Amino acid sequence: HHLARIQAVDPTVHAYLEITAERARADADHIDARLAAGEDLPPLAGIPLAIKDNLCTKGVPTTCSSRMLEHFVPPYESTVTDRLWQSGAVLLGKTNLDEFAMGSSTETSAFGPSRNPWNPERVPGGSSGGSAAAVAAGECIAALGSDTGGSIRQPASFCGVVGLKPTYGRVSRYGLVAFASSLDQVGPFTNSVADAAELLQVIAGADPRDATCLQAPVPDYVAALDQPVAGLRVGMVRECFEAEGLDPQVKAAVLAAAAQLEALGCELVDVSCPRFNDGIATYYVIAPSEASANLARYDGVKYGYRAPDATSLAEMTARSRAEGFGDEVQRRILIGTYALSAGYVDAYYKKAQQVRTLIRRDFDRAFEAVDVLLTPTSPTTAFGFGAHSDDPLAMYLADLLTIPANMAGLPAINVPCGFDLEGLPIGLQLITGVLEEPRLLQVAHHYE
Ligand code: GLN
Repeated sequence: HHLARIQAVDPTVHAYLEITAERARADADHIDARLAAGEDLPPLAGIPLAIKDNLCTKGVPTTCSSRMLEHFVPPYESTVTDRLWQSGAVLLGKTNLDEFAMGSSTETSAFGPSRNPWNPERVPGGSSGGSAAAVAAGECIAALGSDTGGSIRQPASFCGVVGLKPTYGRVSRYGLVAFASSLDQVGPFTNSVADAAELLQVIAGADPRDATCLQAPVPDYVAALDQPVAGLRVGMVRECFEAEGLDPQVKAAVLAAAAQLEALGCELVDVSCPRFNDGIATYYVIAPSEASANLARYDGVKYGYRAPDATSLAEMTARSRAEGFGDEVQRRILIGTYALSAGYVDAYYKKAQQVRTLIRRDFDRAFEAVDVLLTPTSPTTAFGFGAHSDDPLAMYLADLLTIPANMAGLPAINVPCGFDLEGLPIGLQLITGVLEEPRLLQVAHHYE
């Protein structure tokens, strides 16, 4: 069914970079055979999934939507995808993203953008736009994405699906192509909060191959969904509702959703996170700095694109990187290299790390008074192609409301909460404390 659906709609949506039809059919047949033999099947048996193309899949191309990795076929499997296949899930294909996950619209993909299934003139958001669009268009049951500054939640919001960024370290990053290692986290795109709980259940947990992956035991996320929410305190982050550029229709829909939570017995509390709006400035020092270090590995020698006919090693590396990386990736490397250079590292990188601590303390203080925070996910609904392409700063503002959770390592989820007058989806964001995914999923599930 899903392969037929992909054939029908993907020429327009362009969610997929690679469709693994043969493998999917073989896996499905194998599950059927096990079922016929009366075997006990694992929890995700036969569930067809799409995977963002920055997660390594053994034997299946993993391009990061970059010319640099256009012909890269990983010799190993990421931990998260390995756990999915162990649980019986079926790979349908790899989904489009902004190059190396740098962007908010999929427009920086070297292989052309994806389109928003609700209106193909609009972007699906990014960077995990292909995964969000694939779920929204019915081209898979669920998908995985990665979120460094909003790349799961913002496209989920633009495409009207659920998108969960777990606590930093809750899910292994082994086999996720690194962008900003202190911020990156893998998470699911689904049609419902219950589906997100099912997927998190499988992918969460310690991994000896990722030293930043937390040892904490994995609770029963599905069981948490139906716990009552009456009496929970929901913090309305004042700075988010007063944010510059917040679309009044988005604001109205999120406030209406808050009223619904109140009707379910939650108490709405006004809270302030004064440093919330410093998130973007902090992020655009820290993320490019880490990216500039992580992307140093693409030197034309070990793997990836190599420029032909160079006459020296230095020329070969320089040209490979100039030809292999797109403009946005090069911009990030330049910003990061500058911010880390001797003489500037104290003024920029260290200062950004200090502000990051202040952002986290704002959250700590807020969670002394409330159980969960509520904000819009994105200041606007899906914008048009090219709307921000010539203005990187305008594009960066799309992540105003999602970045602070990454800065503090907190779990956060997008839940659809209505439509604007053009019929484009609006999403709300819920945020809880570290490792409080059960509470996050519970409140999201009751709202939904
Ligand atoms: N849009 C943000 C960026 O361009 C966040 C991307 C992400 O979360 N991967 O960096």
